[in-house]
Amino acid sequence: MRKNIVAGNWKMNTTLQEGIALAKELNEALANVTPNCDVVVCTPFTHLTSVVNTVDTKKIGVGAENCADKAAGAYTGEVSASMVASTGAKYVIIGHSERRAYYHETNDILKEKTLLALANGLTPIFCIGEVLEEREAGKHFDVVKKQVEESLFGLSSEDFGKLILAYEPVWAIGTGKTASAEQAEEIHAFIRKTIADKYGKEVAENISILYGGSCKPSNAKELFAKENVDGGLIGGAALDAASFMGIITAF
Ligand code: PEP
Repeated sequence: MRKNIVAGNWKMNTTLQEGIALAKELNEALANVTPNCDVVVCTPFTHLTSVVNTVDTKKIGVGAENCADKAAGAYTGEVSASMVASTGAKYVIIGHSERRAYYHETNDILKEKTLLALANGLTPIFCIGEVLEEREAGKHFDVVKKQVEESLFGLSSEDFGKLILAYEPVWAIGTGKTASAEQAEEIHAFIRKTIADKYGKEVAENISILYGGSCKPSNAKELFAKENVDGGLIGGAALDAASFMGIITAF
């Protein structure tokens, strides 16, 4: 059966020292707790090795927030999937809406990133979601379907089964506006049906689909109670160990 997962996305926050302190705090908070979900923290590239060395990686998986769409070579400033994997990180966020919007990452670029992440043994946390105008025009189903189809439907069913998906309505990210549990359930069920139509029921039933967008301790329980919501990708609330723990223990 599919896993429940709570993953943090630190974005471009914390110095290395602050990041290590946050990781330490979370590690201590989890030391005597057996959560009912997998816990992941995705950190800036510069923090990965240190965070891997700070936490109990059997309890807290570590991931990057991005990786390059090229394997290696003359791409100044880029960080490849193999470099991420060499730090001991096991996950990588791909296709976050901030990368799509500010760095012009297209579905084709994200396809390449996903292939490279998988080839290097990383678990992609692949983000999809619509902007406000698309939601208001009733186009959100078409938008997420296209994102999944164009970036991911070239994968074999074995590789597709290695992914984690994160549905993140862009209008809910960092805005304090959360999708209602019913809105989240409706589109998560649609995403799972889209996957079932392509890869069959078993693959669809086994893939974890996380919700992201202003998820916090006060609304996590209601969201996670929905049948097709298998956890959360958490931005702001992941920067505070107590809040992140509040979301983890919502399961
Ligand atoms: C995110 O950036 O993935 C996110 C969900 O952010 P926030 O929780 O702050 O809305």
